[in-house]
Amino acid sequence: MSPTPARITAVDTHDIRFPTSRELDGSDAMNPDPDYSAAYLVLRTDAEDGLEGHGFTFTIGRGNEVQVAAIHALRHHVVGRPVDEVCADPAVVYRDLIGDSQLRWLGPEKGVMHMAIGAVVNAVWDLAAKRADKPLWRLLAESDPEWLVGQIDFRYLTDALTPQEALDILRRGRAGAGERTARLLERGYPAYTTSAGWLGYSDEKLTRLASQAVADGFTQIKLKVGADLDDDIRRCRVARSVVGPDVRMAIDANQRWDVAEAIRWTKALAEFDPYWIEEPTSPDDVLGHAAVREAVAPVKVATGEHVQNRVVFKQLLQAGALDVVQIDAARVGGVNENLAILLLAAKFGVPVCPHAGGVGLCELVQHLSMFDYVAVTGTTEDRVIEYVDHLHDHFLDPVVIREGHYRAPAAPGFSAAMRPESIARYTFPGGTFWAADLDEKKGRAA
Ligand SMILES: [Mg+2]
Repeated sequence: MSPTPARITAVDTHDIRFPTSRELDGSDAMNPDPDYSAAYLVLRTDAEDGLEGHGFTFTIGRGNEVQVAAIHALRHHVVGRPVDEVCADPAVVYRDLIGDSQLRWLGPEKGVMHMAIGAVVNAVWDLAAKRADKPLWRLLAESDPEWLVGQIDFRYLTDALTPQEALDILRRGRAGAGERTARLLERGYPAYTTSAGWLGYSDEKLTRLASQAVADGFTQIKLKVGADLDDDIRRCRVARSVVGPDVRMAIDANQRWDVAEAIRWTKALAEFDPYWIEEPTSPDDVLGHAAVREAVAPVKVATGEHVQNRVVFKQLLQAGALDVVQIDAARVGGVNENLAILLLAAKFGVPVCPHAGGVGLCELVQHLSMFDYVAVTGTTEDRVIEYVDHLHDHFLDPVVIREGHYRAPAAPGFSAAMRPESIARYTFPGGTFWAADLDEKKGRAA
């Protein structure tokens, strides 16, 4: 009798929140007081190796409990599944999750439910990479092109990208992949920093952090804009004078504007030579982005951190609505859907500069860009991963930045696992930090 195969035995969920709003870290024109949070899950198995799959989605505080509940609602799709089967073909789980007809009603493939699917799918990939004893970027880069194409759901895509075209891109990507891996391990992947430019920071703090960014080797920074034009003009002037003409300076409005306002405001800041305007308007407004792009050139248009799925990315690319695709590792349906988006961007020749920051988004998305470099587009030209220097110490395998570059992760997995002590401290509302905070508030009220 053959032994019973190891199975996934549990999906543990955690509501984890960090009190970032108190320092105005992460503040922008639409999100003045974010408490960076993770709806976090652990896939546990009865395999002898004891490995777990970790995944999460990023939120900014209130509603994180809704996100956790959405992950919880997906448990029955994974608990009881054979671990070997799931890790050999994560697409099986991905298709099952997006195909749950009752849950699909809550989207389809958008919003809280879809983000929950992304968290579970990413946890499966984390487990698969650990069992393969490879960091995720390497697992992807060393996979057969045919297998990778099989990970993608091409429904709604074939008018822009067919499986055969995806296969051709990935086959071409194999040429020279070995040399690029060596170069990646040596140099890392270029990063840019948003740490200097939060809207709530004083000019003094902006000046200090912008000059620090240049000293640290970053060749691009980003400023939040969109709350007050006079302030933005002043802050852009300050930042430009600090970094000089050769450092790229992106600006980010976080969806603050209507189309006409986006055009007017971006033009008013054009004298400071912004490299891109990010999220000028609603992430759902494909034609609006196209109009902005046409009007503000040569300033580039970037968006994607709130683009809900591959279908909207497809339309943005088809409409010529953006110059920079900003994938997010934890908003769409996980690695599988991001493979589709990377290949769409490659087909249209548009560079991918991922959104990161938040909690753990840098840790995750670096793997996708590194895979893109090694095995899809073969270049890092005009490509940078966002970097924000917050909250990395809560992760077991935090990102490492050197001379403005992400070092390639070496540890097996998706770099998603949080430190147990951080989970215990920042679980909301019962973790030690929040419980003490509540006691203090009660004490003050009494
Ligand atoms: Mg942004």
